[in-house]
Amino acid sequence: MLADALREVSDSLYSAATAAGHPAPVLVAVSKLQPAAAITELASLGQRDFGENYVQEALRKRQELDAAGLPGPATWHLIGHLQSNKAREAADLFDWVQTVDRPSIVDALARHRAADRPPLNVLLQVNIDDETSKHGCKPDDVPALAAAVAAHPRLALRGLMIIPTPHPDLDARRPAFRKARRLFDDLRTAHASVDTLSMGMSDDFAIAIEEGATMVRVGSALFGARPAKG
Ligand SMILES: *Cc1c(COP(=O)(O)O)cnc(C)c1O
Repeated sequence: MLADALREVSDSLYSAATAAGHPAPVLVAVSKLQPAAAITELASLGQRDFGENYVQEALRKRQELDAAGLPGPATWHLIGHLQSNKAREAADLFDWVQTVDRPSIVDALARHRAADRPPLNVLLQVNIDDETSKHGCKPDDVPALAAAVAAHPRLALRGLMIIPTPHPDLDARRPAFRKARRLFDDLRTAHASVDTLSMGMSDDFAIAIEEGATMVRVGSALFGARPAKG
């Protein structure tokens, strides 16, 4: 079942990218609230990038997966809001943190990323248009925050992550995706390390890819509906 879902999602990504004349984006499988066994199964099918929202849950699953042995290499993305008191664990557990949105979390991650590891990949989470969300920096704050990340050798500035207002009409999300792409293009001219624009989830990844996403974060279209958070 997971094999079929992975094939379908991968085919859709590829078609959307090809139709738009873009390279295929990176697929991050969002495994929050899914059991470790589901991650193992996807990894055995060749899926490499996994996204988790909660540091404690990720820690628990990683211990389970480390004990059992994953069937392939994995890259771990934190895609949920990060509290400062979890920065140490996050800097250790993850290869990417996609939700950096304030200077204090930049400093905390840089301080805790071990010197013998590769730099932690960072995406700035930008609140592009969602008035109801408390998370993400303002678009105007991106240049200063990006400069702060770029100044830390323990961090690698890779780009931007956005979650647009979840309009039921998917086409109403396009302006947010477009605005994010413009912001991303500006950031790229200022920082050579920037190559990633993370946007698009199960219901809107095709639109996000048309508008220039280079990475999509897909949960329910792969794993089915999520169990409730306990
Ligand atoms: C849960 C989550 C996703 C995946 O959502 P689906 O609709 O299940 O694909 C993507 N990004 C973020 C930030 C999430 O929290």
